[in-house]
Amino acid sequence: MNHNRRAFLKTSAAAAGLAISRASLGDEPPVPAEELDRVAAEPVLHADSLTEPVRIESMELLRNGRVFLVRVRSRDGAEAIAVPNASRLRDAYPIFLNRVAPFFVGKDARELEPLLWELYRHGSNYKFQGLAFWVCAAAAEFAVLDLLGQMTGKPIGDLLGGVKRRDIAVYRASGNRGNAPEEEVEYLQKIVGEIGAKALKFRLGGRMSRNADSLSGRTEKLIPLVRKTFGDGMTLYGDANSSYDVPHAIRIGRLMEEYDYGFFEEPCPFDHLEETKAAADALSIPVAGGEQEFSHWRFRWMIRHRGVDVVQPDLHYYGGFIRAMRVARMAHAAGLPCTPHMSGSGLGYLDLLHFVSCIPNPAPYHEYKGESGIPFACATSTLQCENGVIQTPSGPGFGIELDPTFVKKAVAVTTL
Ligand SMILES: [Mg+2]
Repeated sequence: MNHNRRAFLKTSAAAAGLAISRASLGDEPPVPAEELDRVAAEPVLHADSLTEPVRIESMELLRNGRVFLVRVRSRDGAEAIAVPNASRLRDAYPIFLNRVAPFFVGKDARELEPLLWELYRHGSNYKFQGLAFWVCAAAAEFAVLDLLGQMTGKPIGDLLGGVKRRDIAVYRASGNRGNAPEEEVEYLQKIVGEIGAKALKFRLGGRMSRNADSLSGRTEKLIPLVRKTFGDGMTLYGDANSSYDVPHAIRIGRLMEEYDYGFFEEPCPFDHLEETKAAADALSIPVAGGEQEFSHWRFRWMIRHRGVDVVQPDLHYYGGFIRAMRVARMAHAAGLPCTPHMSGSGLGYLDLLHFVSCIPNPAPYHEYKGESGIPFACATSTLQCENGVIQTPSGPGFGIELDPTFVKKAVAVTTL
């Protein structure tokens, strides 16, 4: 296959939101490492319109009930409040208080992108490399991005290279396991019907279960039953949450292929890259993964060696928008789509909208787990899902204003 033909396949497949089929790759070499490094090194953040330094005066962690907030203030009196991932910060917050927030005080917010690397090095923070560290870094990044958005009047997407789309089609994800297939189908009909989604995802296997199902025979029964119930017009995804070894993953994947599923998420233990790639190599259904990943280099390996066909960085777990954009760009260079994993805490769906609004290679549908109940106003979008589509806000930063009473009632979180 000549270069142009291959490039065309890549472009058209990406435009259709599909991974290139492995067969079409033939014996072509993988995308050169230099190309992945080149696109990953391109600046993500554009805050050039701010000509004066934006010195950070304070970065605080607040809590109202089960919701965490990060408030950042500049020396000139600008302020932003972002909503981090509370379900992880509940355990990881000392890292934020001791290692992340103090680092940003006195720094120039416009330098956020290089500062993320310095934060990683600072005080040997890299020794904490993992979800617990990066979820704290993301909490800070979200707040600083919102601050820059407030000061420039730009939405997150325009700070990160430009909003390319505002209408984002979502898929409704079920978090159930262990219920009977008939009950799950009823539940899927309910949640899909609520938002008019054209795509859905449900859970396979037993979750990190070494091949055991959550209920004997549930997965094998659900895969055909969901297709039969929703018909050929519905895009279907399945998520095994690391349930299978390679032979089991191939067996379940073949069944998904038979019923024309869109992707197979985390078939094998998420950090067992060899097994994930072996399953992906054997199957024609695209394999998706990356929600637990926190290493740039492992993402790069998985993209370059086609360990997955769809990349799913989590904006919180992976350390924020800027790092996740590098993953999307590397995947784009390899002809692969990106659909971020959505943390089910904080304002995950809002974060996802902003990210998808500006990446070069969105998959056709993105994860939606429903609203969080956090009170806010949004002047530029209803943020309601209509016919399976939600509109990204276009106001400054995240484009929302948290309920001032809710913020006022939040108390500062401090270390012991
Ligand atoms: Mg998943």
